[in-house]
Amino acid sequence: GPIIVWLRNDLRLDDNPALFHAAETGRPVVPVVIHDEEGEHLRRLGGAHRWWLHRSLEALAPRLQTLGSPLILRRGQSAEVLVRLAQEVKATSLYINRRLEPPAVAQDDAVEKVLPNLSIARFVANFLHDPTAILTGSGTFYKVFKPFREKVEGGAPAREPWDPPKKLKAPDRSPKSDELASWKLLPQTVDWAEGFGEHWKPGEEGALERLEEFCDRYLQDYKAGRDRPSEDASSRLSPHLRWGEVSPFRVLHTATKYAKRRASIPQTELANFRSELLWRDFNYHVLFHVPDLPSENLNPKFDKMRWRKSKPELKAWQRGKTGYPIIDAGMRQLWTTGWLHNRLRMIVASFLTRDLLIDWRDGEAWFWDTLVDGDIANNTAQWQWIAGTGADAQPFFRIFNPVTQSEKFDPKGGYIRRYVPELAKLPNDALHAPWLASDTVLARAGVELGKTYPKPIVDHGEARARALKAYEVVKN
Ligand code: FAD
Repeated sequence: GPIIVWLRNDLRLDDNPALFHAAETGRPVVPVVIHDEEGEHLRRLGGAHRWWLHRSLEALAPRLQTLGSPLILRRGQSAEVLVRLAQEVKATSLYINRRLEPPAVAQDDAVEKVLPNLSIARFVANFLHDPTAILTGSGTFYKVFKPFREKVEGGAPAREPWDPPKKLKAPDRSPKSDELASWKLLPQTVDWAEGFGEHWKPGEEGALERLEEFCDRYLQDYKAGRDRPSEDASSRLSPHLRWGEVSPFRVLHTATKYAKRRASIPQTELANFRSELLWRDFNYHVLFHVPDLPSENLNPKFDKMRWRKSKPELKAWQRGKTGYPIIDAGMRQLWTTGWLHNRLRMIVASFLTRDLLIDWRDGEAWFWDTLVDGDIANNTAQWQWIAGTGADAQPFFRIFNPVTQSEKFDPKGGYIRRYVPELAKLPNDALHAPWLASDTVLARAGVELGKTYPKPIVDHGEARARALKAYEVVKN
């Protein structure tokens, strides 16, 4: 009988083991994506997610059609949708690529229970090393990245990438599919995502193109390039990996191929890139063992921390109006493009949790809503890491100075000028801290603090002292 391939965060044909193995059987294959907004404990998609998903499905549908079996879209509670679909097409098997976040695992288990007559096959698709199988010598999970990395570094990835299936057989009568538009994933009233399309090509084709471009141009200088926010020198594959439009095996395989072929790509750069990819595995490893990572401090001592509540300051941070040009540039990149450079994620997260002393969960929630790559493990683990509440964390008392960070990582101001155009005419020595500039310099650049651009909402020195004082209760 037919095989249902339930696609989730694996919206691709290439290196998709569930799809590949289903096709290999020669039996009819029914690829389905379910829009399930009721899934228990699964987080609702954020606004930027919805934009991406719409575009990604738009790209996936014709590819499946060409292979021979059209994509079926269904909306509703996953288990119910699958039971109904299985009856309609008389399916005898369900193939899925494993998910690891605990609510998704529970959902997959629940589906297995309501479909007792289907044989269910689960595949390893989305992580280089099965994050659930890696344990320390004493059988516990790793709380620190480095030993985790060292543990897996010796071994080869779980497998090699698979090619896309050559063709798919459709069932005799194709089941009905929702119209994508009826899911209303795109912004309905104000099109705040209108700029996203200039920056991204969602879908597998876009992912593979970017992968080649990155390996060709940027891999050779990856480590340094990844710290220059004014250039697009990191892979920018995060949304594609988030939605599984490219598999990490394919990413690593392609990067390795380039590094072998080109003497200009040092092995150390390949290793650096691989190490970043392993952070995904690691964050899922932690989330698998600590299911409440998205909501609770990993270090319970921080439960005593008295975070400040300030709606206006939170809003100033969200909308890039803090008066610190580097922070504002970052937050506006996030808002207008749905993505934020890694260095900036660190700087703005530190600013929120130290300078404004606002709970990391508020920052995490904003990222979740605005990032196209918002990922349950990466976002929550990284926020905890920066906030100092995580296990392998940047200590809370280590506080980024936003001006020094700005001078160091955007020395020529290209990044700030792109996203904070009202400061573009300031000379470099005034750009990072305009409140220190003379009136003449400001006037010449057409900047009037408090009018054309905000004055800083906090004084970093005072904010730093306040944060350290608040931290006393955690320390003792
Ligand atoms: P590259 O440098 O090219 O790295 C390649 C890939 O490795 C990335 O696409 C990503 O999948 C993975 N990766 C790199 N760094 C990390 C990391 N620190 N943790 C986990 N995976 C990593 N990443 C997300 O994918 N989703 C998130 O929601 C997310 N939220 C973050 C929140 C904060 C506060 C911080 C500090 C970091 C967050 N990151 C998140 C990690 C990182 O910033 C992004 O993965 C990276 O900026 C994506 O850009 P890139 O694809 O060009 O990365």
